[in-house]
Amino acid sequence: MLFGRKQKHPIKIVDKGVVEWKYATCGYCSTGCSIEVGLNEDGDAVASRGLADADVNRGKLCVKGIFEHELFAKTAGRGDKPLMRDSYQDEFKEAGWKVALDYTADKIKTIQAKHGRDSFAIISTGQIMTEEFYTLGKLARGVIGTNNYDGNTTLCMASAVSGYKRSFGSDGPPGCYDDFEHTECLLAVGSNLPEQHPIIYWRLIEALEKRKFPVIVVDPRVTMFAQKADIHLAITPGTDLVLLNSLACVILEEALADENYIHSFTEGYADFSTLVKKYAPESAAKICGIDADVIRQVARMYAKAGAAMTIWTMGINQSTHGSDGVCAINNLNLITGNIGKPGGSSLSITGQCNAMGTREWSSCSGLPGYRYLENAKDRSEIAEFWGIDVDFLPEKRGMFMTDILPAIERGEIKGLWLVATNPMTSMADTGLMRKLLAKLDFLVVQDAYRDVETNAYSHVFFPSAVWAEKEGCMTNTERRVNLIRNVIKPHGDSKTDLEIFNQMATRFERGNKIAFPETAEGVFDELKQLSKGRMLDYSGMSYDKIEENRGLQWPCNEDSAPQGSPRLYTDGIFQFPGGKAKLLALPFVDDNERPDTHYPFWLNSGRVVEHFHTRTRTGKVGNANKFSPTPYMEMNPRAAKQLGIKHGAYAKVLSRRGYAIVMVQCTERIAPDAVFIPFHFHACVNRIALGLLDPHSRQPAYKQSAVQIEPIADQLAAARENVAARAF
Ligand code: SF4
Repeated sequence: MLFGRKQKHPIKIVDKGVVEWKYATCGYCSTGCSIEVGLNEDGDAVASRGLADADVNRGKLCVKGIFEHELFAKTAGRGDKPLMRDSYQDEFKEAGWKVALDYTADKIKTIQAKHGRDSFAIISTGQIMTEEFYTLGKLARGVIGTNNYDGNTTLCMASAVSGYKRSFGSDGPPGCYDDFEHTECLLAVGSNLPEQHPIIYWRLIEALEKRKFPVIVVDPRVTMFAQKADIHLAITPGTDLVLLNSLACVILEEALADENYIHSFTEGYADFSTLVKKYAPESAAKICGIDADVIRQVARMYAKAGAAMTIWTMGINQSTHGSDGVCAINNLNLITGNIGKPGGSSLSITGQCNAMGTREWSSCSGLPGYRYLENAKDRSEIAEFWGIDVDFLPEKRGMFMTDILPAIERGEIKGLWLVATNPMTSMADTGLMRKLLAKLDFLVVQDAYRDVETNAYSHVFFPSAVWAEKEGCMTNTERRVNLIRNVIKPHGDSKTDLEIFNQMATRFERGNKIAFPETAEGVFDELKQLSKGRMLDYSGMSYDKIEENRGLQWPCNEDSAPQGSPRLYTDGIFQFPGGKAKLLALPFVDDNERPDTHYPFWLNSGRVVEHFHTRTRTGKVGNANKFSPTPYMEMNPRAAKQLGIKHGAYAKVLSRRGYAIVMVQCTERIAPDAVFIPFHFHACVNRIALGLLDPHSRQPAYKQSAVQIEPIADQLAAARENVAARAF
């Protein structure tokens, strides 16, 4: 008789017939894992694997990355031909590229001639290659000439960008993953790292296994990360600024600050210290819900650590005071001297695979290479480099994405070009989005998938290639520029985004006077030239060198940093003209929707590990969809019992915007006065979310809305309605 392991059937690794592995970077999140895609002898992508010698992921991939090749085999919903129609209520007809591009260019010109240049808007993404972002920026700013041009990164990272600029004088995360190896205290605010960025979380765990240091997680929910923490601060939603000011208050009060660093490298101390004194732990505790003694204990741990770092994601950014929250994190690290040293950092964990690339090069918020439209020298440099009249460039940035869409209602925006973004699912108040998109005179949607929900309102659809069907670079959370080699040819008759932008440029008189390199590497050469000597210096990089090193962190130049730079501000010199960082006085203003007697629950939203953004891709991948097939709502069992709602039953969630039907998952992870719904599913949480905007970053506060919950008697009808709501 056989016992134990011998009874089991051994695991068989299926031979997928890979004959060649091609280098790429994962096209989902901003971790930036180096990946190889395996091709069989027919040239089909049949496997994915992590690269062991890549510093970022050291051979590992998460559940999304490991099945990434499936995207090429499962082409349901992919666009393979340009589509056109007169009205969004008509059926699409297939068109050739020439006809679709000519028609779109004519529409743009007509709208601009009739209503002004800025009446045609462009909203892009964090998903395409850096070279494509740069080319789109050249097209939008230098050829089409609209100032209403932005990216969907306003929905996820705008507060981090704004906060870095206000504190340090420039965007650019100062730290890196290697900081986990050196830190003596980690504070994570509003980040569920194991689900959002599993491989960064694994890097943290690897560091903790070698050397124990305290991990403090600030989150209203008992997330996976909170369960792993040494201290979990279950904060009242939307009050992180109060907690951060209070931590600073204790550090100053108990003389734990790094006086030398403050004196040498910062300014604004007087106003800052006066402000934070108003946030004594006893008064802060009443607002943020964290015990005063715990605030003191955390402040002491952080300040006394030889090196301490803070990481954060949407819990900070997606708030009406997201930008202030980021500045408050920077304040904390400036007063403790924790910027630019190993283990001491303010490190925003970015969302999309190339959200950093758009921040650096797309010209959405300014001009390429962290240049500003508001700066005359920056405008002249770019105008001269592109060969355009400097007066053609606006002198300040136009609307953010979150302002462009509402401007449709006022008639200020008549035409819109959406590139790899899906506002019908990602923007708050789905009902309003529907009305806005339907009101446009002309909408062009450029996406790899024709079944993306927003395409229901388009007049023209451009089918584009996905990440590994093209070549180019992406920058990850820690400023690492990594490469995607063209693994497989574009699906059907789809084109790379670079080709679409280049071909559009030729349809404008100005576009024929400006050089638009045909290859991604040709564009990359322009980035190198434009970045030389700047903070985000790419001049020491080449495609081959990037692949050889599995990514290079900027600044990277031949003279002082040929292998790149893991950290910024190591010399304490910041990007403001005087070189000093700013300590900012940040009063807390409670300006958000809050629960009341009619809408008694906080509504919070976030991610699950299996899905990415609006499920345009992961909704089609076997395992991702199998493990997370349906939207659900976390609800405390006591609250559910009071309302007569059972685990697994459908319930109705209502806000002042509308309602959604969601399956209830009873769990103690969530407080009795709150609920949580993943944001990935169409016509679900964003039907009811409010999404008020941060005044600095214009990022929506997705995480703080008020809702009421009703049980549903007819569960079968609810199930049908739930499915129907998501079928577009
Ligand atoms: Fe891709 Fe992010 Fe997963 Fe890495 S952690 S494999 S980059 S989705």
